[in-house]
Amino acid sequence: MPTLVWDYLHEYRDEHDDIIDAVETVFSSGRLVLGRSVSSFEAEFADYHGVSHCVGVDNGTNAIRLALQAMGIGKGDEVITVSNTAAPTVVAIDAVGATPVFVDVDPDTYLMDVEQVEAAITPRTRCLLPVHLYGQCVDMAPLQRLADKHDLLILEDCAQAHGARHHGRVAGSMGTAAAFSFYPTKVLGAYGDGGATITDDPSIDANLRRHRYYGMEKRYYVVETPGHNCRLDEVQAEILRRKLRRLDTYVKNRQAVADRYVEALSDTELVLPTTAEGNTHVYYVYVVRHPRRDDILEALQAYDIQLNISYPWPVHTMTGFAHLGYTEGSLPVTESVAKEIFSLPMYPSLPRETQEKVIDALRSVLAAL
Ligand SMILES: *Cc1c(COP(=O)(O)O)cnc(C)c1O
Repeated sequence: MPTLVWDYLHEYRDEHDDIIDAVETVFSSGRLVLGRSVSSFEAEFADYHGVSHCVGVDNGTNAIRLALQAMGIGKGDEVITVSNTAAPTVVAIDAVGATPVFVDVDPDTYLMDVEQVEAAITPRTRCLLPVHLYGQCVDMAPLQRLADKHDLLILEDCAQAHGARHHGRVAGSMGTAAAFSFYPTKVLGAYGDGGATITDDPSIDANLRRHRYYGMEKRYYVVETPGHNCRLDEVQAEILRRKLRRLDTYVKNRQAVADRYVEALSDTELVLPTTAEGNTHVYYVYVVRHPRRDDILEALQAYDIQLNISYPWPVHTMTGFAHLGYTEGSLPVTESVAKEIFSLPMYPSLPRETQEKVIDALRSVLAAL
């Protein structure tokens, strides 16, 4: 097996009995869909964030899509976000018929450059969609000021920031609503797909529940506005309940991996991650930067190390979004960063010897450049 940026098998070995017990709990409960595990997970996940509502859905993309719909955003509306993100952020905006509007990112954190947001606001802007990318939060106070001034909603994309803190507040507790993914690699990951949207707004909560259940208020009730079927699976919810209790430990272990990278690589030419003031980074991905990225990745193949790039193609340069009218050069920081970044192995159960192997290989490759 090559060394990869992510692997779950060590964790599965450690948590095997709890995971199997979660599966057994659901299978023997007598209720396989929207049962006690989903409702308990929703209550516990809302509680973790200090908000009143959580709606479990089938994945993070639908968590964003349903959140936008539940906030009344659709055709003709503009949503301001970034192009340096996972494509699903933008796919979800497109799916509700709204238009994504991109601002560039900060060259140090690679997060939304909040100073560019006001200039991007038009009479059609309805929502700001900051992405707490790589595991740390966008600067929220300026966004909140703009939202108040221009009467905008805020949807936080928290798919990479479970448990991250921003001036003491937890990611997802700062916007009108927040969307999470529980894709297995995420900081809180299921054993399959999952997602959730949280909010303090009871009407958004009610809309979310209808949208994930065909558009029905309750079982076999009349459909007023046709929705979708986007339910969180009962087994995944029970696994997530168990893993939520360990979330802060996962984060601590990720931070320890990051600390070791800093210790071992600070004297190299690699640009290591910067944590913005007021942030606690949860290191969903450990993103480093070097102008000769492609040469480094190729040389690491000889050591049987396969690293990832998050993300090699900014969304505005993808053919599926060509109709938005952005061209090469529209978002210069995003475009230059995408050519130089790559990710080092990062997961809570990363074995120490694997990390040391990567560090040694990387140091040799850098020295030979
Ligand atoms: C993973 C991710 C998503 C999508 O989540 P899925 O569960 O894969 O649909 C959305 N936004 C960001 C920033 C992500 O990292």
